[in-house]
Amino acid sequence: MTEDQYEYIKQYSHTAQIANTLRLSRYFLTSILIVCLYIFCIYQIYFHTETSIFNIWFIGTEIIVSLFWLVSTVYFKPGQYQLTAAHRWLQLQCFIVGCLIASGIYILFYHLPQINLHFEQIHALTLSALLLIVSQSFSLTYLTQKLNYFCLTFLPSIVPYLFAQFIFIGESNHLFSLAINFGLIVILLCATTSYRINNRLSSAYARNKLLTKHAEQQVEWADDLCKQLQNEISHSKDIEQQLQLNNQLLEQKVRERTFDIEQMNKNLENQQENLILAHEIAGLRPWDWNIKDRKIWLTNHKHEKLIRDSKQHRIQLQSMIHPDDLDHFKNTMKTHLRGETDRYEVNYRIQNTSGKWSWVHDIGRVVERDSTNNKALRMVGIRRDIQKERLSQERIKLAASVLEQAAEGIFILDDELCYIDVNPYYEKLTGFKSQQILGKHLFDITANNKSQQRSAHYSVIKQLMNMNEFDGELTEKFLSGKELTLWMHINAITDEDHKVTHYIGIVSDLTERKLQEQRLSYLENYDTLTDLPNRFYYNFQLHKLLVTQRDSQLAIIRLNIDRFRPLNEYLSHNGGDELLRQVAQRLRLTNADALFMAHLNGDDFAIVHEISRIRPSIQGHCERIRKAFSQPFNIANQEHLITISMGVAFYPEHGRQLDYLNNCAEQALTEAKTLGGNTTRYYSSENTALLEQGIFLERDLRKAIQNNELMVYYQPKINFHDKNVCGFEALVRWNHPEKGIISPALFIPLAEQTSLISDIGRIVIQQTAKQIKQWQELGFNNICVSVNIVAQQLRRGQLLEVLDDAIQKNQISGSNLELEITESSLLENSDEIKNTLNEIKQRNIHISLDDFGTGYSSLSYLADFPIDILKIDRSFVSKIGQDKQTAIISAMIAMGKAMGMTVVAEGIETEQQMQYLQDLNCDIAQGYLFSKPLPEQEATQYLEQNTQSATYSY
Ligand code: C2E
Ligand code: MG
Ligand code: MG
Repeated sequence: MTEDQYEYIKQYSHTAQIANTLRLSRYFLTSILIVCLYIFCIYQIYFHTETSIFNIWFIGTEIIVSLFWLVSTVYFKPGQYQLTAAHRWLQLQCFIVGCLIASGIYILFYHLPQINLHFEQIHALTLSALLLIVSQSFSLTYLTQKLNYFCLTFLPSIVPYLFAQFIFIGESNHLFSLAINFGLIVILLCATTSYRINNRLSSAYARNKLLTKHAEQQVEWADDLCKQLQNEISHSKDIEQQLQLNNQLLEQKVRERTFDIEQMNKNLENQQENLILAHEIAGLRPWDWNIKDRKIWLTNHKHEKLIRDSKQHRIQLQSMIHPDDLDHFKNTMKTHLRGETDRYEVNYRIQNTSGKWSWVHDIGRVVERDSTNNKALRMVGIRRDIQKERLSQERIKLAASVLEQAAEGIFILDDELCYIDVNPYYEKLTGFKSQQILGKHLFDITANNKSQQRSAHYSVIKQLMNMNEFDGELTEKFLSGKELTLWMHINAITDEDHKVTHYIGIVSDLTERKLQEQRLSYLENYDTLTDLPNRFYYNFQLHKLLVTQRDSQLAIIRLNIDRFRPLNEYLSHNGGDELLRQVAQRLRLTNADALFMAHLNGDDFAIVHEISRIRPSIQGHCERIRKAFSQPFNIANQEHLITISMGVAFYPEHGRQLDYLNNCAEQALTEAKTLGGNTTRYYSSENTALLEQGIFLERDLRKAIQNNELMVYYQPKINFHDKNVCGFEALVRWNHPEKGIISPALFIPLAEQTSLISDIGRIVIQQTAKQIKQWQELGFNNICVSVNIVAQQLRRGQLLEVLDDAIQKNQISGSNLELEITESSLLENSDEIKNTLNEIKQRNIHISLDDFGTGYSSLSYLADFPIDILKIDRSFVSKIGQDKQTAIISAMIAMGKAMGMTVVAEGIETEQQMQYLQDLNCDIAQGYLFSKPLPEQEATQYLEQNTQSATYSY
């Protein structure tokens, strides 16, 4: 037994003894009450005396014992008391009860025999012994749980007897004392024994209790253990189930994993194939170099895997590498193998089987090193043929440098028309740096405040969206302040789906060209001599005016300097120019309010005025001009007086068309000139023959030439002597498809101002030569046909070619041809014309001076030029009969004869005229009297009818 258990048993016995004694003491007290009552009753019954002391004892004892009982019952309820208090209480209770018993014995044994005589010693002995023995028996029964409770009752109780034995030795009953003493000793021994028994019992009980408790605890523990075990079992079951589930899941996972791995393997195989394919396509050739084993796995150009000895491979590779690249290759490889670089990367050239050098890109990395000495053990890499890349890079560089160097602005836009790149020239053009442009919209760098500008931009964008390209001229003001005229060409770049990805624009600066164009346009449109618009610009402006100012009234004044040509010759070239300048200036000053004025050519000017009530009348204008010219011009310090002729036509009275109005004004001018100049003529509708028919010369005449509408009529020439037809004058006619035959008088003057006159001349000569040939074929060998020529034809120099060509083609002789030249053609008197005429003469072609007497009639021409024939103008012939005129004609004929010329009179209409001329010995007659100009066939008929023999010759 452990110390703790021993202590527990001891404590438990002590507690149990007190508790048992408390419980048993109530019986003990009850027994004492009953014993006392019993003795009191016996005494009262048998001895019947009033003894107050006995009564007091009895009542006192009864009360005290009852109080003890009450307190033990009420106050010390089981389990509700303090152990020490109960122990003290029981000790007190036992001792007092002992004392009460002792006092009772004393009263019974000593006091009552003295006061009650009936009550004898034996009675006293009996009753006191009864009280002692009975009370002690009850003590023995109920108070032996603890020996000290018993002793506390027992020892006071026996005090009266012990006293009696010693004090009353003589009187006491020895036997009784011996018996009592023995009895008391027995009781004491019994008490001791009882105590021991009780003590053991309570110890055994305590031990039992302890054992029970222990056993209960063991049972509890066993229960707990069982529970725990059950829990453990169920937990184990759960775990087992979980394990089974996990196992199933694991199996499932393993299956899935296996499937995944199989898939991955398949994918890997596919990827491997793809990788090989990708390598093939990308031209990548992987290599794997096991440095330790000196083996290298390579892919050759056919993408076959090879294993080679790395040393051999290195030697072979180095022999293939371009010598210039070899060192770089070796160094790069070494530094990487030493671990000084992250990776090995080098470009070098290798020689292929055909001996050509080709660039390759070799890249690799050491993937395994010796951990002890950091020596490379394995290296992998890829070699790639970059020859094409190099070439395209070079091409890109070239393209980039083209972009950089281009002398045109180039820009690249994204699909939203925002700049993503511009070249330096574009920066220069716009005045912006590229950083300022990039990211901005195409027209964000230009000033867009004008609506015109905005609409131009809008149309560019619209065209780009619709057509994917724009090509056009733009005048842009950039926000940098630069203002340029640009030619912009923008093209869309599309991807495979035809979706626009970019736009590329090329911009040329047209500003300088524009200025040049303006300069050129000035030269084209202006006469540099007078700074006035030229004929072209005049026509253009007039046309514009007629179109835009339909409701206005205009006056077109054509001006010409009278007798300018001789004056020009006199003044020499510079003087003539100076005169024209001064004339232009004077016209400018006097016509400040004119709509515009022009210098058409030579000495021809034109002024256009608007007619309105608030402006001076046109007569007023013309008069002012005429007056302005009354002042002399100072040329080279010499004063010259010149006069001008003016012809005026009005819009819209005289026509609404440009040509028409020009013709009208020109005709009026011609009229003014024919009137002797220094005058103004207003166009009158009498002259409108051609124009009124709606024929606009230049345009329609060109068409007429192309359409062979020009015909040649032939007017016979009659020999005065034998009246035979000696020849014809070829006179051109315009056989208009709608208007019929048109007279040359209507179109020749205008044709003379253009190159058309040469074309007309060529046609007439060719047709004439053809006709001569035909007549020759008919037997009229000596027919001579004259063709009218103007000065321009002589000057242009093609005339000789045309003549030669006609003569050759038709195999006729030059002597069959005659050229009629007017006096005005000879006015220039230039060597050029003289030479041409001489050339003509060398071909035996006759030259006649037409319309003699109407022009300047300078006799010097007759001497200077090789003229054979003099044609007296119709105006003189028609006046035959008038004295003075007749004199002139006869003088003319005489002069011609004197100079050895043949004299022809044209326009003979009457017999009188013919007779008169014949009398004057005129050689050849021409006029309606004989025949009007006739078409080919009729002329041939006429010839046949009026020729006996072809004998005419000059
Ligand atoms: P021209 O050279 O003085 O021609 C004579 C003109 O007088 C012709 O007019 C002719 O028909 C006309 N005529 C002849 N006899 C008479 C007559 O008795 N009475 C009247 N009233 N007139 C007569 P046409 O054919 O109308 O030619 C006019 C002018 O046109 C020509 O004057 C000539 O200068 C020019 N011309 C005609 N054909 C050509 C040509 O092929 N080349 C050139 N450069 N000028 C031509
Ligand atoms: Mg003529
Ligand atoms: Mg004539």
